[in-house]
Amino acid sequence: MKIAVIGGGASGLFVAGLLSSKNYDVTIFESNEKLGKKIYITGKGRCNFTNCCANDEFLNNVVRGSKFLQSALSKFSPSDTISFFESMGMPVKIERGNRAFPKSDKSSDVIKILSDFSKNCRILLNHRVKKIYKKDNVFVVDGEIFEKVIIATGGKSYCATGSNGDGYNFAKAFGHNIITTRPALVAIELKNNYIKSLQGLSLKNVRLTAVCQNKKFSQFGEMLFTDKGISGPIVLTLSSYINRLNCDRLELDFKPALSIEQLDARLIREFSSSKNKNLSNVMASLLPKKFIPPFLNYLKYPLNQKVNSVTYEQRKQIVSLLKCWTLDYKMLYPIDTAIITSGGVDLLQINPKNMESKLVPGLYFIGEVLDVDALTGGFNLQIAFSTAYALADSI
Ligand SMILES: Cc1cc2nc3c(=O)[nH]c(=O)nc-3n(C[C@H](O)[C@H](O)[C@H](O)COP(=O)(O)OP(=O)(O)OC[C@H]3O[C@@H](n4cnc5c(N)ncnc54)[C@H](O)[C@@H]3O)c2cc1C
Repeated sequence: MKIAVIGGGASGLFVAGLLSSKNYDVTIFESNEKLGKKIYITGKGRCNFTNCCANDEFLNNVVRGSKFLQSALSKFSPSDTISFFESMGMPVKIERGNRAFPKSDKSSDVIKILSDFSKNCRILLNHRVKKIYKKDNVFVVDGEIFEKVIIATGGKSYCATGSNGDGYNFAKAFGHNIITTRPALVAIELKNNYIKSLQGLSLKNVRLTAVCQNKKFSQFGEMLFTDKGISGPIVLTLSSYINRLNCDRLELDFKPALSIEQLDARLIREFSSSKNKNLSNVMASLLPKKFIPPFLNYLKYPLNQKVNSVTYEQRKQIVSLLKCWTLDYKMLYPIDTAIITSGGVDLLQINPKNMESKLVPGLYFIGEVLDVDALTGGFNLQIAFSTAYALADSI
């Protein structure tokens, strides 16, 4: 049986290797000059290829499609992925939050293993598939006949890596519904005019809450300021939850571990031990230096105001702003800068057991082209591997 795999990325290479080991005649079409270009940049070049957690916990980290992925994940779990790479000769290490990496810290090792695994396939590089259609019982891919076609073209973020949204057009041409794509795991642009002055500033142990249409989403951890807004772990996570909502504002709690009363008591202590100092100097124990000018400007307090002139109301206002500093949401950064594409091929039209189209027998979709997305931590590559495995296992 001749099988075409469109896309030589994470899911395409894995499914191609699995099917060729079952002696199928597999052709990989890859538009780039080399395989696995996106894998190369994953995990900041270290490739966090899975998350070594139990399946239940895994599914808690899936933003869209967790129910759909249950079956595939039970067939091929994170520990199966780790065993696969180890059996192929790649030592693995597990870091904070169960994140699995190659021990070498080199994403190129993951690409090499997936390329070796699929080496018995026919590989057509620099071949961007233009047209796929079904004639009688076979598929025609750019003029060549195949019995089965697997679309593994990825999403449409970081399109320089080859994932440019072609898969959605192939799916549409076969009558599939595409759930509107949105950037996910992406930075957020803000309207506040002081943002540029904060560029590069990183905040740890803060709580950021997105307020969207009366719903609130909160994350605790680390964030950083960019040229136009905010990024970093908690911002990326929030972006995946709010990318289909209208976000009214973001609220930043600089001191989430302290209640308003505790923070007020701390301020009283700080102020009474530094009565003759400038407020801006004393604030340095509560806020990063870069944040003090916008903070005091907002309050309309002069930078050289002395602590002993701070009134009761002013102190209360400082406490309340430290607990809830409003950031004015503008929009998400563009999809090309997003780590993941949310949306894609409608899961209602795909069989979750084997990834086959319910509309077109013999046509399959795996990986990010599907309407599935998860948080950072190795979950998205695992989705690519699990969906690939479920498919290969069924043929
Ligand atoms: C900066 C960044 C960092 C990331 N880090 C991580 C991480 O550490 N851990 C993690 O789990 N996930 C990470 N991800 C997400 C992860 O890389 C993707 O979810 C995963 O690669 C999706 O696999 P895929 O096979 O569906 O698509 P891809 O890996 O994108 O592969 C799709 C392939 O299809 C090819 N293609 C597309 N159209 C055509 C066509 N018409 N003809 C021929 N070929 C075509 C493309 O060239 C591409 O090679 C990261 C993503 C980015 C952008």
